[in-house]
Amino acid sequence: RAKDSGRNAIQLFRSTMQEAASERLRLENDLRQALVRGEFELHYQPQVDARDNRIIGAEALLRWQHPNLGPQSPGSFIRVLEESGLVLDVGAWVLDEACRTGQRLLADGLVDADHFDLSVNISPRQFRQSDFVERVERSLASSGLPAHALTLEITEGIVIQNLDDTIGKMRRLKRLGVSFAMDDFGTGYSSLTYLKRLPVDALKIDQSFVRDSTLDPNDAEIIRAIVAMARSLDLEMVAEGVERPEQLAFLEQQGCHLYQGYLFSKPVPLAEFRALLTLSRQGEEAPCASSPGQA
Ligand code: C2E
Ligand code: MG
Ligand code: MG
Ligand code: MG
Repeated sequence: RAKDSGRNAIQLFRSTMQEAASERLRLENDLRQALVRGEFELHYQPQVDARDNRIIGAEALLRWQHPNLGPQSPGSFIRVLEESGLVLDVGAWVLDEACRTGQRLLADGLVDADHFDLSVNISPRQFRQSDFVERVERSLASSGLPAHALTLEITEGIVIQNLDDTIGKMRRLKRLGVSFAMDDFGTGYSSLTYLKRLPVDALKIDQSFVRDSTLDPNDAEIIRAIVAMARSLDLEMVAEGVERPEQLAFLEQQGCHLYQGYLFSKPVPLAEFRALLTLSRQGEEAPCASSPGQA
């Protein structure tokens, strides 16, 4: 009996494994098709300076309009993109699309290049391509987006492979005018030595610390340490995942002023992002205009 149930368990395990494997293959094929069929799109999440509520940038975030399942967030497919290598093609598309959009926003007068940065996530595999610098240059040249309006978000995972190669590529891109932000800061290796050597411009405080910063003294302490570190290295910092006013108040008190989170806006489709920019422009240009209600 025990033997039987053991055998059954193994069979169950095996067929579950097989299902998982074929599920994964299906997903990989669907993703390959998605690029060809134009099912990917970018959403944009504003980054805000809380001191004057100005939109200082946006992060481009990948979305997949699945024909049957509807909109999919990267959480459900980014690993398969990475592991299959598809992230190289998709990443190239993301970079091109983001640069085109950024240039369009500039051309339409919705943002100005000196006060707006478009952030694009770069996967470690993508960054390690030998011609990565040239690829970024081409995306910039073909879109016409000024390099200083582009920020590349990298993670600490990029560093572990080859520090010298990483620094070399970053320096070349920085000479063009591109900026770098260290994403999900605090969740990876976070070695001070790395951070000191890498020419990054900004740290993004990971949302896992922000989430419980007002409840968990450890997370609050981590945020204090990150802010102190950013200050001493003269780096900008952006807090991710700010959802509640208490979190904002705590971070403001620590001296962090740049935010990206649902409290300000979720990631939104381009048309909605353009509408947000239009509203925020109007607010700047006509600060004394009477409000609609006063007519
Ligand atoms: P990330 O780069 O750290 O992006 C921030 C994530 O936090 C986004 O999730 C965003 O929607 C979410 N977020 C922002 N504010 C809040 C908040 O207040 N509350 C909560 N709960 N979440 C918030 P998303 O869009 O699902 O992306 C997840 C991750 O997928 C990204 O994390 C990034 O690592 C990756 N990713 C997204 N787009 C791309 C891409 O184009 N290329 C690459 N390589 N990776 C991407
Ligand atoms: Mg990011
Ligand atoms: Mg810039
Ligand atoms: Mg992040």
